[in-house]
Amino acid sequence: MKEKTEGQKIQEMLSYKKKNVYEEADAARIKTIYDYAEEYKRFLDVAKTEREATEAAIAMAERAGYRAYRIGDPLKVGDKRYLCNRGRSVILFRIGEASLSEQGIRILASHIDSPRLDLKQVPLYEEAGMGFLKTHYYGGIKKYQWTAIPLALHGVMVKANGESVKVSIGEDEADPIFYINDLLPHLGAKQAAEPLGSAISGETLNVLIGGLPYADKEVENKIKLSVLSLLSEQYGVTEEDFLSAELSLVPAMKARDVGLDRALIAAYGHDDRVCSYPALTALFASEDTKQTVMVVLADKEEIGSVGVSGMRSEIFMDIVNEISLAKGENPARVRFASKCLSADVTAAFDPNFADVYEKRNSAMVSCGTCMSKYTGARGKSGTSDATAELVAFVRGIFKRDGVIWQTAELGRVDAGGGGTVAQYIANLNIDTVDIGVPVISMHAPYEIVSKADVYTTHEAFVSFLK
Ligand code: MN
Ligand code: MN
Repeated sequence: MKEKTEGQKIQEMLSYKKKNVYEEADAARIKTIYDYAEEYKRFLDVAKTEREATEAAIAMAERAGYRAYRIGDPLKVGDKRYLCNRGRSVILFRIGEASLSEQGIRILASHIDSPRLDLKQVPLYEEAGMGFLKTHYYGGIKKYQWTAIPLALHGVMVKANGESVKVSIGEDEADPIFYINDLLPHLGAKQAAEPLGSAISGETLNVLIGGLPYADKEVENKIKLSVLSLLSEQYGVTEEDFLSAELSLVPAMKARDVGLDRALIAAYGHDDRVCSYPALTALFASEDTKQTVMVVLADKEEIGSVGVSGMRSEIFMDIVNEISLAKGENPARVRFASKCLSADVTAAFDPNFADVYEKRNSAMVSCGTCMSKYTGARGKSGTSDATAELVAFVRGIFKRDGVIWQTAELGRVDAGGGGTVAQYIANLNIDTVDIGVPVISMHAPYEIVSKADVYTTHEAFVSFLK
């Protein structure tokens, strides 16, 4: 090998350069990265809604020795607990030996809701030989992407007597799927001239659910009736039970490898289960830490982190209070000493749409988990903007543990922007910074991530919980 020149040596010493995780990896490490991706894909396929993700997370937690917790239960050092919040979000924690007023709590906060189409409360009707369900979209979607793709119906219907009926149709190969009609190009000239954002309106996102008329000449709305009678047979529900239901249409597609080399994964809802899953695996891999650690899998991030199961719910503070008091510490001081990684995705640079990115400050696919000191839009509005000290702390531990990571902001200045749960946790006087996996085609029905970035996110979280 040629000896490095003085200038090359100094350049290496003084310059910052991103690293591609795959380029740095040997065959054994690539195998580790790919093996981890297989487990992640299995999680994706069983956890397509926040309720299913909550259930899957609790199953993992129980296997790792975590037990259900209710506010007020006694707590002591060594306890591993989870609080299931109304089936839609879950907070897991382990109480460590370290002093809470000095070390605080190490918190990983991600979300388990994803953009989708929810059913309206009175959804079912028929017209022109077809049965349909009315929907109201949830989160930031490009509506045209949801037509003409296979959809699955997930959720619960809760009867007036409190009995909860679980629904999941369209995932099994033998199941029927659901579908939203689009216009044929032959008649689509006017539609094609419309702006992308309005070519498909919210009220045209009606889901095909049937086409076989009920066999009785005397009744009206025969297709609707045959759908209702099938629902009654299979689930014991009536049309009125839709009034107290949470039913969502999600893409009926499983997580799949992308590319001949299988370096990438396509799936519905990487945002933000691609950070939630590593948060869980990092928690279970960090049994030997002296820190008190917590993982929050929140609901409702996609619509503003609101409501009982969102990050802004008081339940988070209640648990911090309970843990603090159990250790005989002042909760306000514990929060002051705590640190949080807001574990959420960011936009990966896409050369096909280069004009909305600023390349020097964009996340690159396969260059590792991505820390964003700030998010927001229009002059950093709506970001908590983490302190340089916190970013330096995280940098330091990643350096100590050899974690490959990168930094980025979401797009060019004034190109748009976005927010995460970071600001709501920071508002509670907890040092918080955003970190997570870069995503291509974020919020599309089928999103792309790099396996390398998923695994380095797991490694980053393990490092943080030490
Ligand atoms: Mn997100
Ligand atoms: Mn999102």
